[in-house]
This record gives sequence, structure tokens and C-alpha cells, in this order.
Amino acid sequence: MPTTKALLTKGAERLEAAGISEAALNCAWLLAHLLKTDRLSMLADGGALVPAGIVADFEKLLSRKAEGEPLAYILGSQPFCGLSLKVDHRVLVPRPETEELVGLAVDFILKSRRGGAPAILDFGAGSGAIALALARRFPAAAVTAAEKSRGALACAEENARALDLAGRMKFLKISSVSDCGGPFDLIVSNPPYIPTGVIAGLDKEVLSEPRLALDGGADGLVVAREIIAAAPTALKKGGALLLELGDTQGPLALKLLDEKVWKERQVIKDLNGKQRFVKAIKK
Ligand code: GLN
Repeated sequence: MPTTKALLTKGAERLEAAGISEAALNCAWLLAHLLKTDRLSMLADGGALVPAGIVADFEKLLSRKAEGEPLAYILGSQPFCGLSLKVDHRVLVPRPETEELVGLAVDFILKSRRGGAPAILDFGAGSGAIALALARRFPAAAVTAAEKSRGALACAEENARALDLAGRMKFLKISSVSDCGGPFDLIVSNPPYIPTGVIAGLDKEVLSEPRLALDGGADGLVVAREIIAAAPTALKKGGALLLELGDTQGPLALKLLDEKVWKERQVIKDLNGKQRFVKAIKK
């Protein structure tokens, strides 16, 4: 039987040879997952012997990773805002930037002191990440998760049930903000924003995520434009629109926000210093 240390070293070499970044880290996640332990305990006991069955399973997971499958799909879950979300090929893997978007949404709800029960719409909910994090944070909130993809919406509902949040959320299979009801205190969205022409050149890992979650049309702003056009009628006076976009798109999105309708229009940087979020308040 090999030791964990020997397996990890061999596995990392294999992933490196396949051009996978953070090879050692990926290996550690995969082996800890199979050993049903956490990475630190596993690494602290590098001399432990690994049974043959687990060695064989590890080889299989390494092959999937070497093919460029996202780690979160292989593990079947992704941490997000303190929640563990089930993710698979139906949904985009929630990103750390989107946790920052949730942070902006929380700030708005807290600072705007809009009474006890804010109505929140997460448009393009995917795995439900944003909607679920906000429903968990604000137990009185009425949270609607809207999604075009039937598969993604099913995944969001599965997550809500697993987190015991389904009873106080609404799930809509819908492709337009104007069909989502309202009026809302907050519309938040991480829409697909990658320009169609750029998609083919993306990493294999990103390409294994749903195209619908990535493709933002010719300039990447097609869905954002639809949201911005429909938001004024779906929002209450003083309600906020919060979007996550590509790092060059903020100024373009600001131009789409009519000064007569919106105040406090701004682009906000993410923790990497990239222009990432657009915020506007309905007058
Ligand atoms: N709202 C989900 C997320 O941020 C899905 C986004 C998407 O599919 N574009 O992870």
C-alpha cells in the first residue's frame, strides 16, 4: 500500500504533466475527499497507508481532473458564503468574486433600513448561490431565484431544500426580469457576460461549465442590457440594482443606466482591484 505522501507526489506530477494549474492542491482536495477527511489532517499524516480501493478511485478522479473537469464538479460541492452548495454540470461554479457581490447586497439591505422584509430577486440564479446566501442572511426576506435553465433551476431548488431554505424562497423558470413579479427592494445578478467571440479561447475548465451561464452575446452585455432595461419597473423607489460584470464592462454598463431613472451609479472594484460590480439606486 502506498503512503498518502507518495500518492500525492505522483498525482501532482501527473496533473502537472497534463498542464493543470495548482496540481498539488487539486490532488490534496481529491485524496482528502476520498479519505473522508480534511486536507490538513491528511497532510499531517503523510506516512499513512492508503488502501487499494482508494488508490484506484484516486486514479479515476485524477483522470477527470487531468481532462480539465472543474474540481467542484468532481467533489460535487463548492463552498460559498459559508454554505456548501451542490454543483454539477448544470450550473456555473460559484466564484469568490460573487461572494463579494453578496457582500454588497448585504450592505445595501442593512444600510437602506427598508423595513423588516426586503424583497430580493436573484436573476440568473444558477446553483442558487446568491439567492441562498441572502435568504440565509436575512430570514425575513422574500427571495426569488429566477433562471432560464431548467437544469440550473432544479439544482438551485435542490440546494435550497438541502439548506432548509426552500420554504421561504420562490423559484421561477423565467427569462425576463419583467416576468419575475416584484416590486423588489433589490435586484442582484451575476449574468453571463463573456463576449461570444472570446468563449472558444477560454480554459478547458471554464468550457465545461454551461454555455448559457457564460455567453453574454456579441459584446458580453446582452443579458445585462435586458436586466437594466427591465429593472426600473421591477424595483421599488430607492431599490438597488447590483450586477457582476467583466472587468472592462463597468463603464459601458454605467452608460446604459439613465440618469433620469437612476442615482448613485457606480462601478465597484473587486478584491483583485478589477472593476467588477455595477451598483445603481432607483430614484
Ligand atoms: N448566480 C450564479 C452565480 O453567481 C450563476 C451565474 C451564472 O450562471 N451566470 O454563481
